[in-house]
Amino acid sequence: MTKSARHLLAILALLCIVGEFLSLPDGALCESPDPYAATRQRMVLHQLRARDITDPKVLKVMGTVKRHLFVSPSRASQAYADHPLPIGEGQTISQPYIVALMTQILDVKPGEKVLEIGTGSGYQAAVLSHFTDHVWSIEIRKGLAENASKRLKALSYDKIRVKHGDGYYGWLEYAPFDTIMVTAAANHVSPSLLDQLKMGGRLLIPLGSTTYYQTLTKITKTPKGNEVEHLLGVVFVPMVGKILEE
Ligand code: SAH
Repeated sequence: MTKSARHLLAILALLCIVGEFLSLPDGALCESPDPYAATRQRMVLHQLRARDITDPKVLKVMGTVKRHLFVSPSRASQAYADHPLPIGEGQTISQPYIVALMTQILDVKPGEKVLEIGTGSGYQAAVLSHFTDHVWSIEIRKGLAENASKRLKALSYDKIRVKHGDGYYGWLEYAPFDTIMVTAAANHVSPSLLDQLKMGGRLLIPLGSTTYYQTLTKITKTPKGNEVEHLLGVVFVPMVGKILEE
């Protein structure tokens, strides 16, 4: 390599670092290694901004997290489409809009403790981890829990803790939580999850029939009791385990 070629490469590398430092979109100052950067920005524009996702941080994070790395390589080209996708074992990763909407509703602040029930691919946990360093997630299917755990580590999401277990019982060791997000359909709210919610804390859950559709429901724990808001119709895969015995 000639000296001038070396100089050129050094300048290009520097531009990439500057772009990263300024949090510019992928490929803004350097040739991006991410083949889906533009597709992801289009998803943010047409599926999120065009609907009711207005929180700038949610829009930024949805434009940052590489969703195509949370599905199998054969489905990567569909990762930013406006629908859920299979992730193995009959389970699905929610459509981008629903992930963004649930994140916007939960409104996690820096330093808050979040518990997710239903790790699945790990995508929602990754999104949440851009809002706080304290994210715990429970997955009942061992294979999915192990894969999500490995994937999150490989992508440097080191602070997210994933456990294989039944989320119905919550995660007592790290309770109480400021927010709990359930990403599987349930016909009732587990009393353990409500117990593990801080006073003033928010819990979001697709509540209703586990075979048809559910209503995304937000519960806020207050000294006067639980405030319940029914938000919109959704379809999630069912929560399994202990909940089916209750
Ligand atoms: N949030 C996930 C998608 C969730 S799909 C993502 O971002 O990819 C729902 C997940 O909930 C499935 O992986 C399913 O195995 C899991 N699940 C079902 N019942 C559960 C339970 N009782 N405890 C923990 N996880 C459960």
